Amino acid sequence: MGKCLLEYRIPDAAWSLEFCADAIAVLQQHVQKGPLSRESVGQLYTRDLTKPTIRVEVATVLPPARNSYAHVRFDPKKLAAERAALFKQGLHCLGFWHSHPESAPRPSKEDDELAADHARAARGILSGLVFAIVGNAPFPSGLAVWVHDGRAMWAARPEKLE
Ligand SMILES: [Zn+2]
Repeated sequence: MGKCLLEYRIPDAAWSLEFCADAIAVLQQHVQKGPLSRESVGQLYTRDLTKPTIRVEVATVLPPARNSYAHVRFDPKKLAAERAALFKQGLHCLGFWHSHPESAPRPSKEDDELAADHARAARGILSGLVFAIVGNAPFPSGLAVWVHDGRAMWAARPEKLE
């Protein structure tokens, strides 16, 4: 298991989120550089959902159903198949990441709806669905993280770890 490099805290929440080096490396490979870049999408996984600090150990890349400079959609069947395969390896899905061609990424209306749908579907399993957007500024400002609890999207604040 790799070292965790970035921590995110949700105001008033009892838990925090750490991004480990391997997951960060995958996200950094998908930072959009230049006008010919396209959005990417994938999922975030952890081995342990019981600790107060949840470690994002694995970030995957889903083959996009379609993507463009400022849009990406995935195939729900591929998403479900990936979750099932990684669950057999002891990995629990925490949520999604996708890239945006902007430095300080903000969720679109469609992003909000996607996060809400999946947060409601994961109720009872997750205390919140993690929704990360990879922008093109250096991390951590380029890695924006929200948690959707089924009712609202909460912004998580980054803190650098030693
Ligand atoms: Zn988006």
